[in-house]
Formats: sequence, structure tokens, C-alpha cells
Amino acid sequence: MIAEKYNLETLISAEEIKQRVKEIAADLSRKFSDEVPILIGILNGSFIFLADLMRTMTIECEMDFIKLASYAGQSSTGTVKLVKDISADITGRHVVIVEDIVDSGLTIKFLRDRLTGAAPKSVTVVSLLMKPEVADLDFEIDYVGFKIPPDFVVGYGLDYNQKMRQLPAIYRITELDSNNG
Ligand code: 5GP
Repeated sequence: MIAEKYNLETLISAEEIKQRVKEIAADLSRKFSDEVPILIGILNGSFIFLADLMRTMTIECEMDFIKLASYAGQSSTGTVKLVKDISADITGRHVVIVEDIVDSGLTIKFLRDRLTGAAPKSVTVVSLLMKPEVADLDFEIDYVGFKIPPDFVVGYGLDYNQKMRQLPAIYRITELDSNNG
């Protein structure tokens, strides 16, 4: 079992996540009360956060996903590559980017610049987690769920080598298993 294979320390509990998701969903529902925003999730990490956020919002909204690659193992490669684009037309739309975690900020910057090029009506950025090492961004992360220390974390959509995404909370890995694949 997962818990036996890795030494995991809970950083943010499922209950804390649920409460914070509810608050952000309420803020977004208020902000776009007379609009129909489109949530754009960054695959794979944001799929659970986006699903919970959308189900907690009280206004009409749409969604799409984009897939970017910038990460190998536990360290960023420093480059961002488009793997799967959105299919929605976002011109004139209120776009809400939904990210799992902002680390260096490279991924979110790449995506925001790309989406802004399609002339949306507005772009709002939401990230469940944020690490302190963020490079100088020329824009605000509008909603941050939790600021966390610079440790590698897993769970609630975040992986280690594509595993552990299904865990209900956010964990710090204190001991890596050499046979994890
Ligand atoms: P950035 O481009 O901001 O440096 O990195 C953002 C991406 O790196 C996230 O979307 C996520 O995929 C990955 N990432 C950054 N830190 C972590 C972490 O602690 N755990 C996991 N699982 N992924 C991370």
C-alpha cells in the first residue's frame, strides 16, 4: 500500500483543503456573479483541485484543460513545452487559470502569456499551493490556497513519478523508496 511504501507526513489535511476550496469557490462565484467564466486547468496536477473547485462554485461556468511539461522527477528543467492545447475559443471570455502549485513560476508565466495572446476579456490565476521561490512574475497570483515551504509535496492531484495523485491530502515525502519506478 502507498502509505507503507513511502514515509509521508501530512502538510495540509483533506479537511483544510476542503475549507479553503470552499472559500476560493465563493470568491470566484462573487467575482463572476453575472458572467460565465471558463476554468482552464493545467494537466495533470490540477484535475482534482479543478473538479472540487467547480463543484463548489455556485455560478455557471465552463472548463477546459491544457497540458504543459516542465518537470522531470523532483527538479524543474527550466523549460516549458506545450503537450496538449485547449480546444475552447477564449476570445472575449473571462478565463480562470487553475494550477496545482507555483514553484519557480515558469509554467504559470508561460500559460498566462499564451492565453493572453488569444484576447480573453480577463485572466484570473488560481493556485492551490505556492512555494516561496517564485521567480519575479510581472503579474499577481490572484488566489493562493496555501503558501508552503520549499519541500517536494504529493497528493490531491500532485504526483511523484505519476503516482500518489489519488491521496486525499497534501503530504511531504520524508523518505523516498528506491523501487518506486
Ligand atoms: P514551476 O514552473 O512553477 O517551477 O513548476 C510548476 C509545476 O511543477 C507544477 O505544475 C507541478 O507540476 C510541478 N511541481 C512543482 N513543485 C512540485 C512539488 O512539490 N510536487 C509535485 N508533485 N510537483 C511539483
